Formats: sequence, C-alpha cells, structure tokens
Amino acid sequence: MLKKPSKNWDLKGEIETLQKKALYRKMPEVSGVPGRTVNIDGRNVLNFSSNNYLGLAYHPRVVDSFSQAVKIYGVGSTASRLIAGNCPTHRKLEQFIASWKNAEAALVFGSGYQANLSILTALTDKDDLIVSDELNHASIIDGCRLSRAKTLVYKHRDPHSALDALKKTGFRRKLLVTESIFSMDGDQAPLRELSDVCQNNGAFMVVDEAHATGIYGPSGAGLCSELDVFPDVQMGTLGKAVGVSGAYVAGSRFLIDLLVNKARPFIFTTAHSPAVSAATLEALKVIVSPEGDVRRLRLKKNVEFLSEVLQNILPPRESACQILPILIGPSDLTMKISQACLQEGLFVQGIRFPSVPEGAARLRLTLMSDHTPADIEKAGQVIGHLLS
Ligand SMILES: *Cc1c(COP(=O)(O)O)cnc(C)c1O
Repeated sequence: MLKKPSKNWDLKGEIETLQKKALYRKMPEVSGVPGRTVNIDGRNVLNFSSNNYLGLAYHPRVVDSFSQAVKIYGVGSTASRLIAGNCPTHRKLEQFIASWKNAEAALVFGSGYQANLSILTALTDKDDLIVSDELNHASIIDGCRLSRAKTLVYKHRDPHSALDALKKTGFRRKLLVTESIFSMDGDQAPLRELSDVCQNNGAFMVVDEAHATGIYGPSGAGLCSELDVFPDVQMGTLGKAVGVSGAYVAGSRFLIDLLVNKARPFIFTTAHSPAVSAATLEALKVIVSPEGDVRRLRLKKNVEFLSEVLQNILPPRESACQILPILIGPSDLTMKISQACLQEGLFVQGIRFPSVPEGAARLRLTLMSDHTPADIEKAGQVIGHLLS
C-alpha cells in the first residue's frame, strides 16, 4: 500500500531539488579491468577518471598475491583488529609502510575516510583547535566535525592565513591539517612553510597524502618525503596509486598506539581482508622498485604531454600533476560537457558541489602511466573541440 509521505519526509521532493540544481548524482557502471580504457554502458571508452595512476590495480604480481592470500586465509577477516581480525599480512604491511615512510610505526585502515576520522577524533576534542585548509577533503571536514574541536578554516595554501588561525589562544592542543596534493585541484600545499608555522606555534601537523602516495618523492613515498618535511601524522590512501584499497597512518609509536586505543572508526569496524593487505604489500614492493620509477616517469611524461595538448585551455600552473582540472563553473554545463565527452568516447567525470565549492564545477582529468600518446591526443581533440 502506498503511504502518503508527511511534509517533513518528502524525499522525492528533495531529490527533485537536487535534479533542478544539476546536483543529482548517479553511479556509472564501469565494467572490465580498470585500465586506460573501460566499458561503460556497453561501450569501450578512454578512461580519464581513474585514480589507478600507476596501473597497479591490475598488475599481475598484485593480482597473484591477492589470490594466493585468499587460498591461505580465506576471504574475510571475520572481526575487528582488536578482536580476532588481526592477521600477519596486516602486520607485515604496516612494518613495510613504517620503514618506507621513515616512521616509527604505521597503522592500516579500511579506507582513507576512516583514517581521517580516526586521526582527528583520537587527537582532539572540544578543548582543542583544528586549523584546516579551505579545500580539504570531505573526510577531513567530517573528522573536524566529529572531533567537536573548534575548527578554523584558512585560505587555500596560505601559511599566513594558517598562522593567524593558529595564533588564537585558550586551547589545550592545536593541530593543522592539509592535503599535500589537493584532490580536486592537483595543486601542492606549501608544506615547508606550513611545517615552520606549526613548529613555531606548538601545533601538530597532519598531512593527507592521498594523491601523492606512490607518485611523489623518492620511491613514491610522498610529497613530504620529496620536500624533507616530517609532519607528526602522515596519512595516505592505498586505493589510489597503490591500486588496492584502504589507507595508512604513519608516525610515532605513541601516535599509532593511541589510535589503536582511541580511534573509534578503527576500533569499531571489521578489519579489511588479509588478501587486501597481502596485495597492497605487493603493490608497494612494485612502487619502491625500479619498475615503480619507470611507471612514475611514464606518468610524468603523460602529464607533460597532456598539459601541452591542453595548454590553451588549462590555466598556467607552477607544477603539473596527474590531476588536471578544467574549471567550467556551472554544474549543469559541466555535466553536459562530461556527457558529450562520453559520447565521443572519453570518460571524464564532472565534479560538482559539495566535492568542490558552489559555482566551481569542473571537468577533472586524471592520467595513468598506461595512457598512450594517442589516448592523450584524442582527449585533447575532444575537449578542445567541446570547449572552443
Ligand atoms: C580519496 C581521499 C580520501 C579518502 O580515501 P578513501 O580510501 O577513498 O576513503 C581522503 N583524503 C583525500 C584527500 C582523498 O582524495
């Protein structure tokens, strides 16, 4: 029987409002191996929307280690890490990450979202101050909210603005949080300047390396490592360039011990599968090997080539990166162009509020080391044509 919804529960109306504002979202079904081409709605298209930057999500060694681990451990971890879900593959992965990051210890999480909630809620509470870049990822914003700390937002990539915020007094602890490579803009945080600001003001520094892990720095250890910056907390994802799933936090032994004891998004959730850890470890071994360097170099060449192909469209930038946003502005126009790209055989996601600020919708192209020059030329042609 159809019930008439009460006015407060007009979910259909809420969805219609989203549709009117061109903010209604649908999940495209992407089938096949997530490579330079993917299949969407039965059509093969060039994939410029994946975070599988180094092609590790289908690397034979990574795939093999996953299936071997399934044969040994089964598919599920069966419990949280603190109950019965902690297995040797998790420990080995954490030891590898700690040494790769030059940290005392590391802890692995089911996702980056959980890792950011864990860091911010375990380290701060209502007596504390969090200072956060205005373009930080939603998982950081939600972590700030859940921590109940006073949160001040500073101007994007602006150490002076961060300093002003950190000068506020009357708090037990102060913490600054930033991404290293910003996920929707592909630009870099001024980590050295921010690190100085933190040190001079007794603030903990938390850096989210979601999009830098595997790509920047020696052995792909991240932008902190490239710039010789040692934040108190380093976080990164294992489902983007690393190609598998999950996230890590690296830092001091006490930090990791505190997270194990206090971080509710770590404690109250089932550990990820042992096979996920095994495959992740294998992917990291590729990342730190000479093959990793070859893949990073190919990606860099692709970034340079796409930047060249789109030079009339992209704004000039200090540093090119595998994330290339093309600002459009209105959501409806952005989604129309994204659809038109798909018609032309190019999968480029449109990114809208609340992933980016209102009125700053964009096409966001992401490159992979496996893209060919022909793929990149085609992307340039299609986008050049649609935007001219
Ligand atoms: C993707 C992302 C996350 C979340 O990581 P998941 O593993 O996808 O949950 C966190 N921070 C940033 C900057 C990201 O881009």
